[in-house]
Amino acid sequence: MNIWKAYTNKINKNCVGSGTVKDMNYWRNNLFTWTIIYLLPFCLIALIPGIYFSLVTHHYVLAIIDVLTVSAILLIAFVPGISLLVRKIIFFSFTIILSCTLLLYLGLPGPGLLYLLAACTFGILIFPTAYTFWPAWIITFICILFGVALYFDVIVLPRQELAPASEWVAVSSNLVFIGFLLAALIPRLFKGLQETLNKENELKEVLRKQQDELQQALNLVQQKNHELEQFAYVASHDLQEPLRMITSFMGMLKNKYGDQLDEKAHTYINFAVDGGKRMQNMISDLLELSRTGRGDSIKEMVALGDIFNETRHNILKLIEENKASIIVETVLPVLPLYRGDMGRLFQNLLRNAIKFRRKDNDPVIRISCTEQYDNWLISVADNGIGIEKDKFEKIFEIFSRLHAQDTYQGSGIGLAVCKKVVEQHGGTIWVTSEEGKGSTFYFTIQK
Ligand code: ADP
Repeated sequence: MNIWKAYTNKINKNCVGSGTVKDMNYWRNNLFTWTIIYLLPFCLIALIPGIYFSLVTHHYVLAIIDVLTVSAILLIAFVPGISLLVRKIIFFSFTIILSCTLLLYLGLPGPGLLYLLAACTFGILIFPTAYTFWPAWIITFICILFGVALYFDVIVLPRQELAPASEWVAVSSNLVFIGFLLAALIPRLFKGLQETLNKENELKEVLRKQQDELQQALNLVQQKNHELEQFAYVASHDLQEPLRMITSFMGMLKNKYGDQLDEKAHTYINFAVDGGKRMQNMISDLLELSRTGRGDSIKEMVALGDIFNETRHNILKLIEENKASIIVETVLPVLPLYRGDMGRLFQNLLRNAIKFRRKDNDPVIRISCTEQYDNWLISVADNGIGIEKDKFEKIFEIFSRLHAQDTYQGSGIGLAVCKKVVEQHGGTIWVTSEEGKGSTFYFTIQK
């Protein structure tokens, strides 16, 4: 196998042509190289019976031409420093010479004709497109030459009685016809292939450009997104301190000077403290949003059941105060997850399911999980107040709330966090709900 590889490499190196893979001349050169690669062992083998036949029939010229042709092919294959066109011309000339010798020594309707056709076909295949008709003209010229020589008895052929000049016209005109037919057809095939290749390359180029543009746009979006997250993180982090000062000094004002203030002043201070607290909640929710998916955590195989239990433990007080029951209806799977973020997702959904409860019943929350083709589908269903149908998408937007603060408190960030977490896990989140009956939040997680 290695000898074959070394052999093909050597010939490929010597017969190297110009052009790229996109170019049809490249394929013509390639075809020529591989013709030489395959032809060489065959003609070495064919040389043995050829020489034997020549010696037995005393056609020594045939043996000499045979040996010369094989030597020419060896030269084309192994001698470096010769241009590819010269190699092609040598190859074509020797096949023509061999054809003529065979015509002369073995008679006109013999193997010489086949060789002439083969020479013409090789010529059409290997020479550049501009020269396609040359091989056909050359064999036409040879046919005419033989016809004239026969007619004027310039040559006397063995078994000439089998092919008088008149028959030669019939035989050779067929050869010429086939030669021209091939000269017209083969380039058509090449042209078709070239056009297909060009189209494919153009499409590839367009695709590559579009991919580049898309990648650039993606990089820009990612960069902006990162900057925005960084901004939200820094802003919310730095806002906390002055806010804490305001609320604590308000508290001190109330404690120290409370007895000197009238009722209106007390109301104002309460408003200010209340607003401060709300703002503190909003800031901590914003911080939570900007922390989600910051990329400093790694995915690990975690039992979703464990995350759920931890979450339930974290909000136990809220559950007990509201007499909420949480029912896990199916076994929860083990999945590759960002542990902290998945905890936030569960916590926000459970908190909402309890917060948006109906006054006339205790909250019942059902959690279940179904395996799909390449996802897990998880649902969290409650028996709360429900959501209007036209708000199903809006509630996942940041700061989007459906109720006044004095009815249900909140920042409108919880579900935006959920959405971010789910998308980070390659999934989607949505809700179905019936007003006054309850809501079911669904999300998928890629397996
Ligand atoms: P917040 O809870 O702080 O208001 P969220 O982003 O968590 O913000 O929720 C956005 C809005 O979606 C809520 O204000 C509420 O109107 C609605 N919502 C969320 N969960 C539920 C639920 N389980 N039942 C009814 N409404 C809900």
